[in-house]
Amino acid sequence: MSLRKLISRRSTLAFRLTLWYAGIFTVSSCVAFLLFYLLITSLIQDRTDQELMGQVSRFSTLLAAEGIKSVQNAAVIEAQAAGVKKVFFRLLSQDGQAFSSSTMAYWKDINIRESAIKELLHGSDHVFETITIAGRKDEVRILYAMLSPGIILQVGQTMETYSRFFDAFKTIFIATMTFLILLAAGVGWFMARRAVSGVEAVTRTAQKITGGSLEERVPVKQRGDEIDQLATTFNQMLDRIQVLLTEIKEMSDNIAHDLRSPVTRIRGIAEVTLTTGKSLPEYESMAASIIEDCDRLLAMINTMLLISKTETGVDKLSSEKLSITALVREACELFEPSAEDHGVRLVCSAPAVRDVAGDARMMQRMLANLLDNAIKYAAAGGAVTVSVAEDATQVKVSVQDSGCGIAPADLPRIFERFYRCDQSRSKPGIGLGLSLARAIARAHGGDITAASTPNQGSTFTVTLPASLPQDPLISPA
Ligand code: ADP
Repeated sequence: MSLRKLISRRSTLAFRLTLWYAGIFTVSSCVAFLLFYLLITSLIQDRTDQELMGQVSRFSTLLAAEGIKSVQNAAVIEAQAAGVKKVFFRLLSQDGQAFSSSTMAYWKDINIRESAIKELLHGSDHVFETITIAGRKDEVRILYAMLSPGIILQVGQTMETYSRFFDAFKTIFIATMTFLILLAAGVGWFMARRAVSGVEAVTRTAQKITGGSLEERVPVKQRGDEIDQLATTFNQMLDRIQVLLTEIKEMSDNIAHDLRSPVTRIRGIAEVTLTTGKSLPEYESMAASIIEDCDRLLAMINTMLLISKTETGVDKLSSEKLSITALVREACELFEPSAEDHGVRLVCSAPAVRDVAGDARMMQRMLANLLDNAIKYAAAGGAVTVSVAEDATQVKVSVQDSGCGIAPADLPRIFERFYRCDQSRSKPGIGLGLSLARAIARAHGGDITAASTPNQGSTFTVTLPASLPQDPLISPA
């Protein structure tokens, strides 16, 4: 990867994950190396100290058995045997003066530390120290020990083993760490790329969608991990958006269609009157027709607005104590003349049930829409039955007719805005009545369901909670 590419990727999640991974791996490896180093150096020092203590014990025994002369001779011989550059011996009096030593030419820079002598005089068995001699690579480990009252042995040994170990350790450390850092960066990059590849797939899909292709979906790898969950949720969201867009498109087509007819009619009436009729009655008739069409348009627009407001809860509904029985009876009385006009028998079976909480005006509108449809779509000579019932939690209102019924394919869609079944196109209506009725029922914490058998009739059932609903849309008037 070129440096420019690397720089451009430095803000990516994969790059940062790799850095973290490599960083943590490097720090852990360094800690492990450090612990190993400390362990080995302490072992080396222990061994050196034991060797020095061994010398002291030999010299003590010799002093006790053969006297100071033998110790002086032994010091020279021991130093020569070990190598005069490796070990030295010096015998000191208790005031810190050297009175005998092995060959000290190589060790001339080593001083006698007064504090060590004092420590021995105060009762310490032995005193260790490690010193560095200017210009020499290896450190020196020195032991002061009291051989007998008044005779102190100073013995020193180079830490050559330690230096060799340190050199080897440094080489191994640098080589191993270089390899490990590269390995960690490689493995980290591979893992990070694998982890974020799913996120990138989501991003790519989102980019394609931004470019206009809403059909795109993120591939799901069926691994069941978080990325799969993200992809599945993202795809579900796209499905939902697609459905919503299709619905919005259908709705705007319907709105355009439903607005175009009355506007065209208004324009036609105005044009004909302008080109042909010039008398006052003709202008009056034109104005009346235009007002009628405008009223229809306004009613449609107002209903659309009311559905939106009811669905979104923009206008809070009032929450009065309502008798459904009374509302149903009123509605039946109101629609009796219309039923008679259509040659339909209207039967009202509304026994007293528990009250519900709601907005009286909106409830009346909901019942009116259902009754209007039932009478409109019931065959002449047929019947519409409105009944009220209740169970433990709900109050139910059913509006049943013996009309043309609704085809199973249309049934799930009749509550959509502007949806009209083909067989109803000859009847007046704009396809908003059921949408509004359902929006009202839901805003009261209830719902409306429809059941139908083609050519036999339909039943619309409103369910409302019998107790006060918790729905936040409903608040005191
Ligand atoms: P509309 O103004 O067309 O009546 P609605 O929203 O009230 O609009 O109803 C939507 C469609 O559902 C109607 O066009 C009709 O096809 C169907 N529908 C509603 N009620 C009935 C019913 N009682 N019998 C048969 N079809 C019905």
